[in-house]
Amino acid sequence: MSTAIFSHPDCMRHEMGDWHPECPARLQAIDDQLIACGLANLLDYREAPMAAVSAIARVHTPAAISKVRDHLPPSGDYHPIDADTLLNEHSWQAALRAAGAAIAATDAVIVGEITNAFCAIRPPGHHATPSTPMGFCLFNNVAIAAAHAMQTYGLERIAIVDFDVHHGNGTEDAFSGDPRVLMVSFFQHPLYPYSGVHPTGTTPANLVNIPVPAYTRGDAIRDLVQQHWLPALESHRPQLLFISAGFDAHREDDIAAMGLVEADYAWITRQLVAVAQRHANGRIVSCLEGGYALSALGRSVAAHLKVLAGLD
Ligand SMILES: [Zn+2]
Repeated sequence: MSTAIFSHPDCMRHEMGDWHPECPARLQAIDDQLIACGLANLLDYREAPMAAVSAIARVHTPAAISKVRDHLPPSGDYHPIDADTLLNEHSWQAALRAAGAAIAATDAVIVGEITNAFCAIRPPGHHATPSTPMGFCLFNNVAIAAAHAMQTYGLERIAIVDFDVHHGNGTEDAFSGDPRVLMVSFFQHPLYPYSGVHPTGTTPANLVNIPVPAYTRGDAIRDLVQQHWLPALESHRPQLLFISAGFDAHREDDIAAMGLVEADYAWITRQLVAVAQRHANGRIVSCLEGGYALSALGRSVAAHLKVLAGLD
């Protein structure tokens, strides 16, 4: 069993201003924690290539791609896409590396070079819809990699598990109603982007959306995962699992108000590893989404990776 980490220095060169919580220091905090806890020595570090524009275009419209590629500001300046999603001169490059990491990780697990992978990447992706970047996200890394897995390798059953505290509206938009892709998630509700809650009886069959109120703690989340996610995952029998791994439901993270701790992320990861072992030869590609309390982020990623690497 081997676990790789995909990342690239370009992912730290995209930044949206000193005030912005989605900052380069997040990746540094992860690196530092993996070194401090001794995991860094045990993982296979790989440099993320740049995604081809054609791979991004499997999910995103030409207009969405143009909103990033054709609006890079001069050095030291920012171009706002929305109130909290900005470009700097390096954003295009960073976005190509982030999507490229997810694609390369997918290639490596499918051909069997590694069992699973974590992509330590930014910008994150799950709010980016096919038609627009939004919510700190430029391109939807997980959706692009899932589309790549289906189109390049002919996979017929994919699962996307999103445990970020925010609803993955972009991923839902990309795959809603696509029976090949099961998306399971929980998210604090109401909270940005105020999506994912469908009128009773109208949720597309391939989505398991679990809105939860603020102050929900890890034990309640574990019960919901057991009741709702695991049966859906079992019956879908995914050939590959993607994780939109956001760690902003951590109780130390002020961007939302939930109560998960590292042990909860480890527990969730254990359940997903078990599903992957039963149906997918263990294949998991996990991609960083949110997580803004730097110490909690580092510790949570370490707990997640320890389980992925079979070291817990
Ligand atoms: Zn989030």
